[in-house]
Amino acid sequence: MTIYSTPGSADRFPARAIVVGGGPVGCLAAAMLARHGFEVDVCERRPSFLQHGFGDEGRTINLSVSPRGMRALAKVGCRQDFADAAMPMDRRVVHTRDRQVLITRYEQPGWRNHSIARNELNLLLLRNAQRRPGVRVHFSTACASIDFDRREAVFATSAGEQVRPYHLLVAADGAHSQVRAAMLDSGLLTCQQTTLDARYRELTLRPAEPGRLSRSAIHVWPREGFFLCALPNVDGTFRATLVLPAEGQASFEEIRRTGLRNLVRRHFGDTVPDIDWHTAQSRDAPPARMEQILSSTLHYRNSVVLAGDAAHTMAPFLGQGINAGFEDLITLDNVLARAHPGGLGAALSEYSRERKAQGDAAAMLSMTNYRELTAQTGDGRPPAPVSGLPLPIVINFLGLSYQEVLRQHLTIDGLVPSSIATGS
Ligand SMILES: Cc1cc2nc3c(=O)[nH]c(=O)nc-3n(C[C@H](O)[C@H](O)[C@H](O)COP(=O)(O)OP(=O)(O)OC[C@H]3O[C@@H](n4cnc5c(N)ncnc54)[C@H](O)[C@@H]3O)c2cc1C
Repeated sequence: MTIYSTPGSADRFPARAIVVGGGPVGCLAAAMLARHGFEVDVCERRPSFLQHGFGDEGRTINLSVSPRGMRALAKVGCRQDFADAAMPMDRRVVHTRDRQVLITRYEQPGWRNHSIARNELNLLLLRNAQRRPGVRVHFSTACASIDFDRREAVFATSAGEQVRPYHLLVAADGAHSQVRAAMLDSGLLTCQQTTLDARYRELTLRPAEPGRLSRSAIHVWPREGFFLCALPNVDGTFRATLVLPAEGQASFEEIRRTGLRNLVRRHFGDTVPDIDWHTAQSRDAPPARMEQILSSTLHYRNSVVLAGDAAHTMAPFLGQGINAGFEDLITLDNVLARAHPGGLGAALSEYSRERKAQGDAAAMLSMTNYRELTAQTGDGRPPAPVSGLPLPIVINFLGLSYQEVLRQHLTIDGLVPSSIATGS
């Protein structure tokens, strides 16, 4: 067995790591593990998006990456590449039902989120990982099953099944993680899964007049029970997400009956001239579901960890999924750097404890923000925060852990009992 040194310590780890999933978290995980001397095989189910593109442009989303996520990007030296491809956002603009525009500027210089297409971020991190010695990426390679005791993962490829042995396996295969499902089947964890009533679909906004929508802002149109939000792209367009209940008044069912344009005209009238109706109609994909999936543990002994959406799938209402996933990897990096020889099991256990607590808290905060975005305020204004700063500012910029935000913000607002907020 080859033994490699870890950065920043004389500790040593066995060499072979498999990362299941070549999404943003998987690619970043590969780069981090390579820093610790692991030989890393990233196994991605999709065909090579370097060669063939993503093929899902109609469904791609924009992500708001906060300083939390940026810290992880800095660790693997791709902060500048990221900044070149992303749009900085220094304000939040709320568009009320009565067409008022309420602007909240983020006052401190470091208070910036960045908007980037998920696919763009994925490419950037893939290239970063591939530049590292020891990292190999295998496309069209889908994890099918795992023997956790023998430490062997089976992958379906166009050339048939491949069995890959591993010392460490990182599950970064997203919300419907095959690794998590295999652990569930083997009795290694349990999951809490909630499917939300709300669904979403993507729209493109192409402002009819330049400057009509600030390009350095996240835009939100909160309504009673539903909302629209939009993030800027570098090309001057905006990627918008329309979130509605599946059925009832102002729902996707209503869109099926009376058309998207009708619903937009009634509830988001100021956006009618800006929506790219051509792509909205030609890419009329069914609305997507939203889920929250939380696991009882994020590791198995000294050989498996879950990260990103595979570890904690949360509702997207606070824009924390990728940020929490990247924070997972900062913690993984830290525990690996501190681990003793032969102490991988203790390191992964520490990772699991810490990130489960934070992931659960982030998921709960996301659900709380849904209530704030869709509250019955009558005039389409979000309710004023009881505890001072709005939750998105507290969560993105104050450097607090998700657990701490939950404890401080929500016990003050009285939205959850303190016993939940403190995790006791
Ligand atoms: C509408 C919406 C808006 C969002 N907005 C934000 C936001 O503003 N900010 C934010 O932080 N987060 C946001 N999120 C959440 C964010 O998209 C996710 O948290 C993030 O994409 C998770 O990254 P990941 O790499 O863990 O998983 P994924 O991005 O899902 O990647 C998983 C990868 O694993 C691969 N895979 C799956 N199964 C297998 C298998 N069996 N074998 C091999 N490979 C496999 C997939 O092909 C994929 O490439 C949003 C989510 C939604 C739905």
